[in-house]
Amino acid sequence: MRALSIIALLLSLLSGCALNPVTGNADFVMMSESQELSLGRQADEQVKKQYQVYPSKALQDYVNGVGQKLAKKSHRPELQYHFLVLDSTEINAFALPGGYVYITRGIMAYLNSEAELAAVLGHEIGHVTSRHGVRQQSAAQATNIGLTIASIFVPQVNTMGGQNLSNLIGGALLSGYGRDHELEADRLGADYLARSEYNPQAIIKVIGVLKNQELQDAELAKQEGREPRRYHGLFASHPDNDTRLQQAVGEADKQTVNHPVEGHDEYLQATEGMVFNDNSDQGVLRNNAFYQATLGIGLQFPVDWQVHNLPKSLVAISPKGEAKLQMKLDEKPEGTPEEYAKRSADSNTVESLEINGLKAAIATRANKILAVIYLNDQAYLLQAEAKSEAELKPYQEVVLATIHSFHRLSGAEAKLAKPLELHMVRAQEGDTYRKLALSSPLGKSAENYLRLINAQYPAGEPKAGELIKIVE
Ligand SMILES: [Zn+2]
Repeated sequence: MRALSIIALLLSLLSGCALNPVTGNADFVMMSESQELSLGRQADEQVKKQYQVYPSKALQDYVNGVGQKLAKKSHRPELQYHFLVLDSTEINAFALPGGYVYITRGIMAYLNSEAELAAVLGHEIGHVTSRHGVRQQSAAQATNIGLTIASIFVPQVNTMGGQNLSNLIGGALLSGYGRDHELEADRLGADYLARSEYNPQAIIKVIGVLKNQELQDAELAKQEGREPRRYHGLFASHPDNDTRLQQAVGEADKQTVNHPVEGHDEYLQATEGMVFNDNSDQGVLRNNAFYQATLGIGLQFPVDWQVHNLPKSLVAISPKGEAKLQMKLDEKPEGTPEEYAKRSADSNTVESLEINGLKAAIATRANKILAVIYLNDQAYLLQAEAKSEAELKPYQEVVLATIHSFHRLSGAEAKLAKPLELHMVRAQEGDTYRKLALSSPLGKSAENYLRLINAQYPAGEPKAGELIKIVE
């Protein structure tokens, strides 16, 4: 029964070869344009369930305006394109078949001009015009692994149990289409930039900025034991040394106009006030103090530790990376914090106490310290860990101080729980990123962040009189 419906679906997708809009040649694509559009529409609904749309009409209009300008100059100008800014810290942009293009505010924080925004959108438009999503699916069908992909795209024939769009997003759309398709998207993006009076070299610049961000994030990810965040268009080598990329983009240079639009100030004005890093639902870090208004909690991590707000936990790493302190949330179980701590830490060394008026317990066991704190219907678990007891020992005091800083958020503090924002300022004579970092709420990473978002990583400095981005 199930097998039959999938075969029926696959047959319905078999509609012979279509013409490739970019090359004009017959393409090994088993899908008509109307099927492509309906596929895009359905997947777009899934994306909107998965992500929040960024709630600023002005910013949406700006991005849409730039995108539509490029789309009109593309190989498929008759398609109806949709450009959407997603309220996500992910560094990403992606496209669905049929003209749906998404860009996260996470990636937008690292761009520095309208031309760079156009470069990201142009690359994604390139995936749409050359039908990479569709071609990918056709190739997969041909080798009979299309079952999974088709069922993900069409949720009602979901045969894979837990499969859903996130698997799909984690797959082809977000991880990219392989080196050749990415290069093709870059080449087409560069072409659309030139036709829209932007400098095609903005593609190389963007890839350089994102590469630096990736290198920095890879370092942090290693410490945190998580997967690094990657933009799908990035490959191993740095764009400056990437001859195939240089070549792909270089073709478009021949048609470059004399005075291409850069739009540095315009872009900073358009993104003025944009949320940076976590939004209020995720909780906010200010100089390693964490505030979460919905849960009504606050605590202070050691100021020289690296703190990261991950989807399911907060993780703080000691300066040299030997110790880790993680906070997780659980439903409050039956019984006391002491019982919970005993059970979780498998330890009999448990101290029962009150932390700022809240029932709590702290368990210790060799290389671990576990605190359990009850507040409302939640149990908060703070666990510190190192490879050995000896490596944890030097941090015992700051770990306990962090645990003891946990408290119910006061009314006065609630305003600190509002998210960080990007703001533009005019650099003054003598400004350095180190100096600007001193008054930044970004804590230990402030100098790196400020350099990265202003495309001055690793060693550039602001020039007096120019507009730069800061975080407040
Ligand atoms: Zn791509």
